[in-house]
Amino acid sequence: MFDATAGSETESTYECLRCGKLITASTHPGACPECGAGIQNRANSLE
Ligand SMILES: [Zn+2]
Repeated sequence: MFDATAGSETESTYECLRCGKLITASTHPGACPECGAGIQNRANSLE
């Protein structure tokens, strides 16, 4: 059931603004799963 979407999205690394946890996902997780704080796309911050 993954054949239609596999590889169609590029995973990005997001970083929690509070605890620094790194989250790899294809879409913005919205909040840190560990502490619930906001997260940012790490690639954008490292430009
Ligand atoms: Zn966190």
